[in-house]
Order: sequence, then structure tokens, then C-alpha cells
Amino acid sequence: MLDSHIHIMNMNPPQPDRLEHVFSQLGLTGGVLISAPPACFTREKAGPSDVQDRVDLVLAWCNGRPDWFPFFWIDPLDASAADQVAVAVAAGIAGFKIICNQAEPGHPAVLDTARRIAAAGRPLLFHSGILWDGQDSSRFNRPAGFEALLHIPKLRFALAHASWPWIDECLAVFGKFQQARRQAPQACAEMFIDLTPGTPRLYRDELYRKLLGIGYPLLDHILFGTDGLADTYEPQWAADWLALDQKLLEQHWQNGVQPGYASPADAWLALTEKNLRRFIARS
Ligand SMILES: [Zn+2]
Repeated sequence: MLDSHIHIMNMNPPQPDRLEHVFSQLGLTGGVLISAPPACFTREKAGPSDVQDRVDLVLAWCNGRPDWFPFFWIDPLDASAADQVAVAVAAGIAGFKIICNQAEPGHPAVLDTARRIAAAGRPLLFHSGILWDGQDSSRFNRPAGFEALLHIPKLRFALAHASWPWIDECLAVFGKFQQARRQAPQACAEMFIDLTPGTPRLYRDELYRKLLGIGYPLLDHILFGTDGLADTYEPQWAADWLALDQKLLEQHWQNGVQPGYASPADAWLALTEKNLRRFIARS
């Protein structure tokens, strides 16, 4: 199994051995490690080596571990964002992360960055839903705002946290992307949903009931993640979400027709591994 959403939130030297040990206790072989945040998110002033240092650090965390996927957290409003995409891709970054904390997804700079990421064949993980950053920023993270990405060819993007509390809006936007792709698959972006909490536990049952019952081909497009921290990854936190999600998947299985999936066990494998590999596969 893989965890699609793990943060590196400091510039301390990597400790991959500890994380690998915790993974092995949980039955995980790896996942997505997201670089330390850009200056726009920390409100610290970026130094001249900021980008290279953050790229190098996440690559060092993942070095020699083929199932650990290094993502670079980019600020699309930074004047050098286009260069940063090129630098990160050349260095071996597997994908990108954006948190729209200062502008909506339809802002020209966000769209330009997303186009460059898509052209490089890399996936893009967005925060979505309420943003706990102490700022007036959640309005940039409503799911419907991501319709602006619709006509970026080859883009594979995921909305994290199932956009909680806007789960219904997130599923509706997913349906819209699916319908658009059926008409013009080459011309439209492909949307995934990262189920990383996000949702307080109270809402988890509702989330699975809707995911499995709505009748959209969601099971090919959902990703399991924890929002854990690379250096202090908590095994109990991850174990609790894995257990709850697997239980809810089994309970709500009968709610919907699940084309291509013979059993909840099949669907669990897609959710915890296969879908992320497809999301990350270079195109
Ligand atoms: Zn996160």
C-alpha cells in the first residue's frame, strides 16, 4: 500500500530509515513525499537557494526507494515558477503540489504552471477544501474553482481532502470532468480525489456512502493519504484511518455498481495503490 500525502515541513536532514520502519509495520511500501513549503506558505523570506534546497531535500528523502515519490511544492505566483517546474523536472521530481492560498485556481499564473506540469507529464496535487492557514484563503479552494483546469490537455490533478466540507461539490465537479473527458478525452484534464483527512471522522461514513453510491467511476480515481509528517509519521494515526476506510468501503460496497471491481478487496487495492501508480505514471 502507498500513502499519497506525506509532508516534509522542515529542512532537517532526512530520516528515511525511521519512516521506512514505520511503513513496514503498517504494510506500506511508500507514497508521495511533498517538499517543504515555499515562502508564500511559511511567510518566511525565500533565500536564493530555496528552490534547489527544497528539491534536493525531498529527493534525498526518496533516494534509492522506488516506491517513494518526491513531489515539489511550488508557488505558481512566484515570478520564477516556470523555471522552477523545469528545474524540478530535470532533477527527477515525480510530481507537484500547489496550495492556492493567495489566488484562485483560475488565476493565469496557476493555469500557466499547471500547463507546464502537464506538458512535462507530471501529476499535480492541490489542496482543496477549508484551508487552516490562519488567512482568508478557503475561498480559493472551493472545488468548483478547479473547473478552470478543464481544458488543460494531459493534466492529471487531484483535489486533496475530498474538498471537505464541500464533498458534494467535489463529487459533482468530478462528474463534470468525467463527462467532458468522454466527449474529448485528449483535450481535457483528468481529475482524481485524494481522500486524505480532511474529513473529521464523523464525516467519513458520509464520504464513503457518497463515493460508492453516486454512480460515477470514482473507484479508479480515489487515493488514500494521511497528511502525515515524514519525520514524525505516527503509525497509530495511519493505522486508524486505514482501518476505518477499509471498514467503510466494505460496508458501503453494496450501495453501488462498481464496474471493473469484483470485490471490496479489489477496490481497496485500487484505492491504496493502483490509482496512485496511475496518477504518477509519466505521460
Ligand atoms: Zn497536506
